[in-house]
Amino acid sequence: MEETRIRDDLDTLAAHCRVKREVHLRKNGKGVEMYSEVTAANSWIANKKGLSTSEWISGLKMTANLAAVRSVPGRSLDGTRCRHGCPEIETLAHVLGFCEQGLLLRNSRHHLIRSKIAAALEIRAG
Ligand SMILES: [Zn+2]
Repeated sequence: MEETRIRDDLDTLAAHCRVKREVHLRKNGKGVEMYSEVTAANSWIANKKGLSTSEWISGLKMTANLAAVRSVPGRSLDGTRCRHGCPEIETLAHVLGFCEQGLLLRNSRHHLIRSKIAAALEIRAG
């Protein structure tokens, strides 16, 4: 009898843990379930060729909406505004695409890609 009660308690605890994990994944793992739908763009997840381990981990965090930006609940005690003084809410989109702090890196990447495209077009044009 005691053994049955303990087994039932453990089953109840296991079910509770499964529900908590599913809720956690639903809230924090946005987009993860879609990785297999676009293999050309997401192959880096299984094959991190060309990426350092920290770059690979950062990429995983960004695609799963787990990067440590202030707008993610529980990530900041200082509010959700950008840590670099912008009047914007610090989202991943703000940090990667708008924040003045990353302007030089964004412009540098833009110029590099523009040059590669121009070179490819020149080769194709002959
Ligand atoms: Zn900012």
